[in-house]
Amino acid sequence: MSAPNFLKSLFLKELFAGLGVTGRYFFGKKFTVMYPDERAPLSPRFRGRHAQRRYPNGEERCIACKLCEVVCPALAITIESEQRDDGSRRTTRYDIDLSKCIFCGFCEEACPVDAIVETREYEYHGEVRSDLLMTKEQLLAAGDRLEKQIEADREAQARYR
Ligand code: SF4
Ligand code: SF4
Repeated sequence: MSAPNFLKSLFLKELFAGLGVTGRYFFGKKFTVMYPDERAPLSPRFRGRHAQRRYPNGEERCIACKLCEVVCPALAITIESEQRDDGSRRTTRYDIDLSKCIFCGFCEEACPVDAIVETREYEYHGEVRSDLLMTKEQLLAAGDRLEKQIEADREAQARYR
């Protein structure tokens, strides 16, 4: 062992340096958030539970192009679709299995009409696996309920670009 290392060991220099760090955090400002009474701030890019959006006239945005289904690395999205009488294509089934989803955000990035989005909602649970299957109706209901927040987050994201 070299002489400087020997002296460091002898006088427990590293031990005291470590204790100094412990002391600094022990007496310093605490960062613990007392959840659920307190909440940490969320980014407008937070990727929580999904929602499907509508246009202001109430029409669903999704055009059943299936890009989100193709891009999903977890194979969590299942879509079935049909053509309407007016020639437009819409989904008849749109499921997201949240027990498979890894919240990567690829689905919302791939969507050409900003229909599928991930919201700030992260407080949910399921007792059985089927509780974590979000249907089209549930996704649209979530979109209707959260549209104001989704719109505000979209505007904030545009400012960061
Ligand atoms: S967030 Fe990722 S894993 Fe989840 S549904 Fe979208 S693409 Fe699939
Ligand atoms: S949510 Fe978007 S990407 Fe997925 S099928 Fe509908 S329009 Fe296409």
